[in-house]
Amino acid sequence: MKRFLCLAILLSAALSLGAQPVNFTKKSRILSEDKAAGEVLQKYLSEATGFAFPIISGAKAGAGDIIIRSVEGLPEDSFKIGLERGSIVLEGEGKSLMYAVCDFLEQEMGMDYWGAGEYVLPKRQSVVLRPRTEIPAFRHRQTSHYNLWGDPLLSYWLRLETPSDLFVKNLWVHTCNALLPASRYGKEHPEYYAFYNGQRHPGSASQWCMSNPEVLEIVCGTLDSLFRAHPKQKMISISQNDGSDTYCRCPECSAVIEEEGSPSGPILRFINAVAERFPDKEISTLAYLFSVKEPAKTKPLPNVSIMLCDIDCRRQTALPYNPSGQEFMTHLEGWSRICDNIFLWDYGTNFDNYLSPFPNLQTIKDNMVIFRDHGVKMHFSQINSSLGSDMAELRPYLVSKLMWNPDAPLDSLERHFCESYYGAAAPHILKYIHTLEGASMGCDVDLFIYDSPVSFKETMLRPTIFRHYNNIFDEAEAAVADDSLFLARVRRARLPLQFSALEIARTDPNRDSEAVEKALDLFESRIKEFNVPSLNERRNSPLEYCQLYRTRYLHTPKGNLAAGCPVTFITPPPARYAKLAQTALTDGLYGGAGYVENWIGWEGEDAEFVIDLGSEKTVEHIGADFLRQIGARVLEPAAVEYSVSRDGNNFELFGSVRLPENRDMSIGFKDVSVDGKAIARYIKVKIEGVKICPEWHFGVGNKCWFFIDEICVY
Ligand SMILES: [Zn+2]
Repeated sequence: MKRFLCLAILLSAALSLGAQPVNFTKKSRILSEDKAAGEVLQKYLSEATGFAFPIISGAKAGAGDIIIRSVEGLPEDSFKIGLERGSIVLEGEGKSLMYAVCDFLEQEMGMDYWGAGEYVLPKRQSVVLRPRTEIPAFRHRQTSHYNLWGDPLLSYWLRLETPSDLFVKNLWVHTCNALLPASRYGKEHPEYYAFYNGQRHPGSASQWCMSNPEVLEIVCGTLDSLFRAHPKQKMISISQNDGSDTYCRCPECSAVIEEEGSPSGPILRFINAVAERFPDKEISTLAYLFSVKEPAKTKPLPNVSIMLCDIDCRRQTALPYNPSGQEFMTHLEGWSRICDNIFLWDYGTNFDNYLSPFPNLQTIKDNMVIFRDHGVKMHFSQINSSLGSDMAELRPYLVSKLMWNPDAPLDSLERHFCESYYGAAAPHILKYIHTLEGASMGCDVDLFIYDSPVSFKETMLRPTIFRHYNNIFDEAEAAVADDSLFLARVRRARLPLQFSALEIARTDPNRDSEAVEKALDLFESRIKEFNVPSLNERRNSPLEYCQLYRTRYLHTPKGNLAAGCPVTFITPPPARYAKLAQTALTDGLYGGAGYVENWIGWEGEDAEFVIDLGSEKTVEHIGADFLRQIGARVLEPAAVEYSVSRDGNNFELFGSVRLPENRDMSIGFKDVSVDGKAIARYIKVKIEGVKICPEWHFGVGNKCWFFIDEICVY
């Protein structure tokens, strides 16, 4: 009785807001002007109601029918849901008809769609229809979800778009080389390319000299043919290649930079000159890294779109509440003063370690409100939802809901998702999310998009809290133990904790190797069970990680003559590594995939140091370990030389290795070893770095790093 009363109160509350009950019968039909939208509606309505819902045309609609009707004049991507003489009417234009169908299924029919054939659809034969007009906060909405591949319905369900919807030939970012190929122009016209560090840098990763009038002519010619060949899309991006500090500093460009107070000055003047020639098209460009600050004088023309990127910001709070975000806010405010056509590119996960807790859901929402309030029109939330990554399903669900309406209440969205996706485990998963968020806030962590879980081993992932997370997940697994679907989802959500535990364990000299091996076995079996594809943006394989873990981290190497020996640096490492450098090279712990822990690095220079073995020893093998993380300008060294000495003054060459250039973008390690025979107390290690990023690298012409860890002497 009590329950009935509650329902009655809810129903009357709904009806008082203009909602109307509609009953479906076996006579109910679909009158659709859009074949695909009609078929989707029919499929799920017939499943939910048990009625056939034939799709017809040309007939007059009656009570209990559903009309799908094309209308013009609504704002881009918007749709309307209403009632007409007892028929439900779904109205929109183009793809927004499908949005209307999905929204009706979700809101009125109570359906949730997770993609790849997974959905929840309650049985019901009547609905309470809430008439509404839905208008998105951002006219272009873009994010990622691993189930989007090959599932067009999911992109309609989440109302997501792709760059190819907007941009000619998918030219949407980092387009310099596509529009002015260095392979074609680089050799004959180095003056088309950026000048700095005393020379021009023609190359596939280089920027242009934006002051060169010939570049403008060639690019306009290319654009003209591209627009002619692709008349349906009116937008194209002329945007800097990836990489920082690579902009042109020739006298002409430097003068403009000086006048405009930012390297965005010459870029925007160039873009405006192009936009003037194509008044009915839209020219997009990046405000990213060196160009993130708006120019002081030049304003973008109305048909210029600014793709503004907040890549360097911290994610533990919304932008206004941490220093990096505050700096970005000045750029957002600056651009929004001169441009009402901003495409905001936000970053919302750990790209170096997808399987690493990244408690930024509240931050995503708070930032999106800020973007909307600063007049941002298009939005890309780059979260690289990869299967097995941190909250890989919840994150794109929230992002897509919030891109439509940033004011949507986060707590209800999280709760709805968890109840539907994790069943009885929902309260536990929510508890985990909020405990982790609280720990991050309470410990004042610095949440950056390129980091390692090891960085948090004394804060939000410290042992006491970690035990608590594990207890929560034990309870979550127990709550759904008899439901294989929910259990699998809960176990997938647990992977980042398992990965973090392994990562933290390998940095602990007192780790319990037996317990770690058990944890590794379990992690590996789950990785295989769920088919987790990659660990990071560089697509390192989780299975290879497990294999590597066994050989590299599980057991401290035995018999290393250099273990615990003091190191004297002839070339001192940069200040930030000085303390770590006292122990890292001989502590028996191998560095991980990020340079943020256990590695000692030098930038743009060679390095030399000496290890004192304490007494004379027979030496037959010397080796060192190097990191390759090309995306972070960490290249393998050019050469390594080992020499030995009995007295510490007179050194003899033990052996040397010259390394071939390695362009492999995946993160990796290089063991550089030499065998020989000598009696020695002192070992000198001399490393020749590559020093300057080569032409193919997006740091072209700027300094690069090498990072070294464990020295092994046998
Ligand atoms: Zn220049």
